[in-house]
Amino acid sequence: MKNKIISISMITISVLYVANCYAPAKKSKKMRHIITQAEGKKQKKARELPKVVVVTTGGTIAEKESKKTGGAVPAESGQALVQAVHGLDKLAEIHVIQFSNIDSSHMTPKMWQKLSAKVDEILQEPEVKGVVVTHGTDTMSEGAYFLDITLTSSKPVVFVGAMRDVSDLSPDGPANIYNAVVQVISEEAKNFGVTVTLNQYINSARYVRKTETTNVQTFNSGEDGYLGYIAMGKVHKFHERIPALKLPLPEKLAHVALLKTYAGDDGSFIRYAVDHGAQGIVVEAVGAGNVNPQVFAAIKYAMSKKVVVAIATRVFNGAVYPIYGDVGGGKALEDAGAILVGDMISPKARLLLMLALSNNASVEDIKNYFKFR
Ligand code: ASP
Repeated sequence: MKNKIISISMITISVLYVANCYAPAKKSKKMRHIITQAEGKKQKKARELPKVVVVTTGGTIAEKESKKTGGAVPAESGQALVQAVHGLDKLAEIHVIQFSNIDSSHMTPKMWQKLSAKVDEILQEPEVKGVVVTHGTDTMSEGAYFLDITLTSSKPVVFVGAMRDVSDLSPDGPANIYNAVVQVISEEAKNFGVTVTLNQYINSARYVRKTETTNVQTFNSGEDGYLGYIAMGKVHKFHERIPALKLPLPEKLAHVALLKTYAGDDGSFIRYAVDHGAQGIVVEAVGAGNVNPQVFAAIKYAMSKKVVVAIATRVFNGAVYPIYGDVGGGKALEDAGAILVGDMISPKARLLLMLALSNNASVEDIKNYFKFR
């Protein structure tokens, strides 16, 4: 009898034990099912959000006060930049690519060449709605213009940065990144091409320029005006962008110098640039595009050496015109074969001349490129 009781209880224990092994599995299987379902929903929800890639390059937006130097230095990673933006994951499925982390005063056309190739590659991906490029503001207008000319994709690319660094009282970076993503996913802004968007204002890459050294409202587009404004998570469009001039992204970049002229300039820097391999020179002239006789002679020397010379102006608004016929006047320069760049600021005129010469464009072609409006 006793044995019978022992065997029955043994069987019961083993049955209970086996049941117990399975029950949690059954329960955890159920839990797992619920969890995977939730996961699935979350992923499905994420997938429903537009995919935006943030390519980070550095600049004040990623800088912090350093104890060692006592000044702002590149510090924040791309991931950290994006994580600091509340609510971004509700707007879009964000992917981050850290391209570099430098102050944009250290940027070079070679780096923009690589950046353009990288961004174009990302934009080929069908799911990618557009790209946000974080960049320093010092050379942002040039970087944006370089990509505006060389990108083959017409998907939105928004350059963004900050005037106050991460350790500042109220950094402007996070709000600028948030608005840049609002712009990339906005139907209103889909044809804006490459823009520079800070402090809620949207500027075309062609006309944007930095106007303040420290103020958050530093970028504007002069007479051409803003393309739009971002408020309440929405783009308010002011006008369509002008069609972008497109040139192939060259393998090798031509050597182009940018030289500012001034009262009493003897033209020696132009001669130096010619004698040291410049293939093109942008002269930032005075007024409506005028230089003195010594500089005019140096420019003719350059052209006699097959160096292409373009004339821009240091004046903030307006354009270069063939008005003055005196020695070195805009009319005299144009008649001598120099190219007048119209209303393009000199740093961008240098990039356009560089890309044109790198694509073996003729002087006539280049004249037309600068007339592109
Ligand atoms: N020096 C910084 C830079 O261009 C200025 C800024 O980003 O505002 O990288």
